[in-house]
Order: sequence, then structure tokens, then C-alpha cells
Amino acid sequence: MRGGIDLGGTKIQAVVVDDAGEVKGEERVPTPTGGGPPDVADAIAGALRGAADAAGVETAALDGVGVGSPGIVDTRKGVVSSARNLPDWEGSFPLAQTLGAAVGTRVRIENDVQVATNAEFELGAGRPYRSLLGVFWGTGVGGGIILKGRPWIGRGGAGEIGHVVVKKDGARCPCGRRGCMEAYAGRKALEQRARKRVEKGEKTDLFKIMEKRGRDRLTSGIWARALDHNDRVAAKLLDEAVEALGVGVASALNVLDVDAVILGGGLGLRLGEPYRERIEAAMMPHLFSSDDPPAMHMAALGDLGGAIGASLLIRPRRGAVAQPATVS
Ligand SMILES: [Zn+2]
Repeated sequence: MRGGIDLGGTKIQAVVVDDAGEVKGEERVPTPTGGGPPDVADAIAGALRGAADAAGVETAALDGVGVGSPGIVDTRKGVVSSARNLPDWEGSFPLAQTLGAAVGTRVRIENDVQVATNAEFELGAGRPYRSLLGVFWGTGVGGGIILKGRPWIGRGGAGEIGHVVVKKDGARCPCGRRGCMEAYAGRKALEQRARKRVEKGEKTDLFKIMEKRGRDRLTSGIWARALDHNDRVAAKLLDEAVEALGVGVASALNVLDVDAVILGGGLGLRLGEPYRERIEAAMMPHLFSSDDPPAMHMAALGDLGGAIGASLLIRPRRGAVAQPATVS
């Protein structure tokens, strides 16, 4: 069995899967909001132990653990840097080494969005296609690219669709630049925009729902609930997010012209098919190939896609008895 971790800005999802990729155990914990990288590593280890318990194994008996992480990932060294959606993670942290020592097995780390895109390509909604753009609409807006059946990571920084500029000198993005798509669409930026509107005297239930649920941030579920309550501020901000996503995704497609777009991420999955349709409609005016647009689907692996994808980072050990022969 193998472990997979989806390390997100809001939650840490752990799975334990068997050889066939079937989930045997899972556990989800909130991402610590303080304490820095060592506390996050502790929380990951805890989530993995929970998933392993549910699967009836010790973590040390796992063939390995794959981690999909935000930030800049040095896969060879197992080091994660500049993960700004995680607490106090501006610098570099040896996550593979720290986590490996805590759980007693090898750890391999890759960029979270590419991991989730690979999972959709291999096991999910992307299976029929040779080229894909994965758009993960959550705390930030991440993108993953598959070209001719292979991940395209450029020099390491490809796929950053959240930082496609949709408005020159526009809103400040969590990345520090201005006018990025994420500045209008990312959950973190949406929360800041909602707070600004409240400061200006606008009324919204967003923060009341947050308090009622005992949360310290506006989760995807809170946005969905506010929409159900016809909250005008929530609806207006999400309208702007849809417009930004339409412009940004269409711009990326005009360059890449991939077979299909897969929409996932916490907000994407929570708001679901109606919002996928709205984003597709918002894309059309900007799409050069609008007569023959690429297919667009919701991510099929759902909430567990990132963690299942991360488990794919652990390939069978050479010489392992129980594994079928594979050529890689
Ligand atoms: Zn940005």
C-alpha cells in the first residue's frame, strides 16, 4: 500500500491506497493556521496515521508516501519553498526528510496542482484526452498542463494560470503583483475583497455563517451557503471571479489549444457544474477557437483527487515481490 497527501491551504487530506489505486483509508485535518512548517509536517503525519489506521496498516509498512504541495517544490531534494498559502512558509523547509522521519517510510513531493492534473489524466475526467489544462479553483487558482500525454512543467514554473493577468494594474494578488486572475477568483483574495466591502458598510452574511460554523476563514462551504441565502455580496464577488476565470482560462487556451479543460479545486468542486457552465460561457467571448472549443469537465476524482494523485508518485519498488512487473 501507498500513502498520498494533498497539502492544501485549508485542509490536509491523506489517503492510503492499494496496488489497484483503491482508497483503503482516509483522514482529513485542517491545515494549521500558525506554527510554521514543523507544525504542518506534524499535522500531515497525524493525518497519514489516521488514514493508515483506517486501512489497517502502520505508516512504516507503506511502500512510500507521495505529497502534493503548494509552493516551489524541489522534488529531488524534497524541499518546499515559498508556500505562501501555508503558515510562515516563506522560506525553504525539508518536508520529505522531516515527514519521512516521522512516519518511517520514503516520501516524494511534487507540485500539488500538477499532481492533481496527473491524477485526472490517468484516472479521472482527463482519461480520453492527450492534452489537458487542469484548473484548480480553491485558496488560490492553480493550473496543471499535460501535452502529448506528458506533464509540462516548463523550467519548473509552468501552469501558474492564477497569475495570468486579467486586468493591468488591477487588484493586488496574494503573490504581490497586480491584476492576476487569482486576485479576483482565489478564495483567499475573495475573503479580502469581502472584508473590504464590509468595511465600506455593505451587508453580507458571509462572516456570520463563518462564526456560526466556528471557522476562522471563509471556506468554500461558507460561500456556497451564502449563495443559497441570496447573499448579494457573495454573489457579486463570485460573478467577478467567474469573469476573471473566463478571461484567464480562455487566454491560456489561446496559447495551448489543449483537448480539454478540467475544473477542480475546493471552490470549483463545491460550486460544481452550474459554475463550470458559467465559466465556460465567460470564456467564449475571448476564445480564438470558439467555433470548436475544447471540452470542459468537472474533475472526476473529487475531493480525494489530489491525494490519490500524490499516491501515484510512489511507483513500485524494484524487486518488490507483490508488484506486477512494470517497465518505466
Ligand atoms: Zn498573482
